[in-house]
Amino acid sequence: MNVLELRGVRAAHDGITVLHGVDLTAAAGRVTALLGPNGAGKTTTLRVAAGVHPASGGRVLLGGRDATGADPRALARAGVRLIPEGRGVFPNLTVRDNLLMMTRTGRTREEIEEAAFARFPVLARCAARHAGTLSGGEQQMLALARGLATDPAVLLLDELSMGLAPLVVARLYEQVAEIARQGVAVLVVEQFAAAVLGVADRAAVLVRGRVAWRGRPDDGLRAELSALYLGSP
Ligand code: ATP
Repeated sequence: MNVLELRGVRAAHDGITVLHGVDLTAAAGRVTALLGPNGAGKTTTLRVAAGVHPASGGRVLLGGRDATGADPRALARAGVRLIPEGRGVFPNLTVRDNLLMMTRTGRTREEIEEAAFARFPVLARCAARHAGTLSGGEQQMLALARGLATDPAVLLLDELSMGLAPLVVARLYEQVAEIARQGVAVLVVEQFAAAVLGVADRAAVLVRGRVAWRGRPDDGLRAELSALYLGSP
């Protein structure tokens, strides 16, 4: 089932159109990768999907219902969770307090901690540390754990791999694949494809605000990406 659908989405920054009619779907139980070079509009696409940036045209559908223009809090309540580039954790709060801020989602602190620590045991070991002292990979785990505390139907991940070593990224993507297997529609933005393609079920490539390629990730996609990024015909 397509949980999230963007149909002909347009968006602008300061009056300049950066998305020129983007069609994209994220299905339950799948990892969908949105790839593309710097400045292609990937982050803007995620922000429109989460309702934090307005669409200037097109539609955003959630579970088949029109959610275009919905307030970000309404979309969050409907199960859309954006984990922004830079992870969005609070560096001066402990790991535990970062997690417990999510109790307003209706879960108890015990439930939230138990779920987070079961998925990411390393977080249990540094529960009392300030999030800012964690490694980048641990911070990303914390960001994922916080996101999952809201029981999202749609998880939007922006540049999960940013600044992390390939092995750390590979482990994080194993978790992302597991999250999708549990029924979440995961939409991942990455500039560099290698990290996500091992787990992506579908991929789309955005170039200058338009989907230039879509399909199942395979060797054809890799060739396409290098051609697109290098500007070959
Ligand atoms: P990156 O990997 O650099 O984040 P991206 O594919 O995510 O790239 P976006 O961040 O969505 O691309 O940016 C798309 C276009 O919109 C770019 O030309 C960018 O310069 C412009 N843009 C993004 N954010 C803003 C902003 N806050 N104000 C003005 N222009 C912006």
